[in-house]
Amino acid sequence: MLIDNYKRKIDYLRVSVTDRCDLRCTYCMAEDVTFLPRQEVLSIEEIIKLISIFNELGVTKFRLTGGEPLVRKNIISVIEYLNSLKNQNKIKEHTLTTNGTNLSKYAKILKDNGVNRINVSLDSLNPQKYREITKHGDIQKVIDGIESCIELDIKVKINTVLTQNFNDEEVFDIIRWVQKKRCDISLIEVMPIGSIGEERFNQYLSMKKFEEQLVSKLKLSPSNYKTNGPSRYFSKTDNESKIGIISAISHNFCDTCNRVRLTCTGKLYMCLGQNDYVDLKYALRNMSKIDIIKQIEYAMTIKPQKHNFEISKNNYEGYVNRHMNETGG
Ligand code: SAM
Ligand code: SF4
Repeated sequence: MLIDNYKRKIDYLRVSVTDRCDLRCTYCMAEDVTFLPRQEVLSIEEIIKLISIFNELGVTKFRLTGGEPLVRKNIISVIEYLNSLKNQNKIKEHTLTTNGTNLSKYAKILKDNGVNRINVSLDSLNPQKYREITKHGDIQKVIDGIESCIELDIKVKINTVLTQNFNDEEVFDIIRWVQKKRCDISLIEVMPIGSIGEERFNQYLSMKKFEEQLVSKLKLSPSNYKTNGPSRYFSKTDNESKIGIISAISHNFCDTCNRVRLTCTGKLYMCLGQNDYVDLKYALRNMSKIDIIKQIEYAMTIKPQKHNFEISKNNYEGYVNRHMNETGG
């Protein structure tokens, strides 16, 4: 079992399987982003090998992310492998965070391979606004993907990043839409991860203030519902949908952190909001399995107590000097 220096049990790995993406969300990456050369990115076989080692070390929850996991060639091999671990009762859950543009094509394959829950990112229901925030996106493809999942009984949670003067008013309509579809939603505060070619401070909307407004306007009550993530949930008693709030900056949740993150380049980050990492790609390509395990165990000893995110007028650039699409959300 992996335990860090603050006695937190680490049983959850998020794996970024590619830095590539078919969209360019304005808070995530610059429009003219340069993607990594392929040889720097872990192969599918390397990803599977690391998953199997983490599983042997007691990690039982896995989330594939990116970049966009459903644009990675042969990604289904990883999902099939995770499903084989699930069928042997070695893992509790495997899931994905996706932008949903390819979900119609993949929903059935995902369901057949044990994916029962999925997070789909969606920041606006208005086709023009959706295109504006994603630079390329076609909202209809995402909605079709969500419908395909619902039909197959894959539980959908919508991830909505709240950005100032963009969707802070529309979010109430998005919540109503989510409730009608009987999905859940997590509202996410913008985090200063990687520079994006514009001022982050202008995007940032504190959840602290917004939460009060949300709870009173929608007459919500705190819910005991818990997932593997950092969301605090609220609900309305007459509706099954849960509304989660992820506020890394205005409401720190680090004391219950149960996760580490593997980038598509094989770096193991112990915290989304810190820069220390252990290079597992080097270990994979040059060391024995025992030495890889030693590296992972060492990583636990340097997992920081908490992140140092800060957004203020004088400090709005990416505190973390890598992009969200490399580390994965
Ligand atoms: N491409 C997939 C997607 O968009 O769902 C998976 C990767 S994406 C990096 C994972 C999540 O991180 C998405 O929900 C996205 O909205 C969120 N995200 C990206 N950049 C962010 C930022 N700077 N602050 C907060 N959330 C961010
Ligand atoms: Fe792509 Fe996801 Fe980043 Fe949007 S948030 S640009 S969909 S990786």
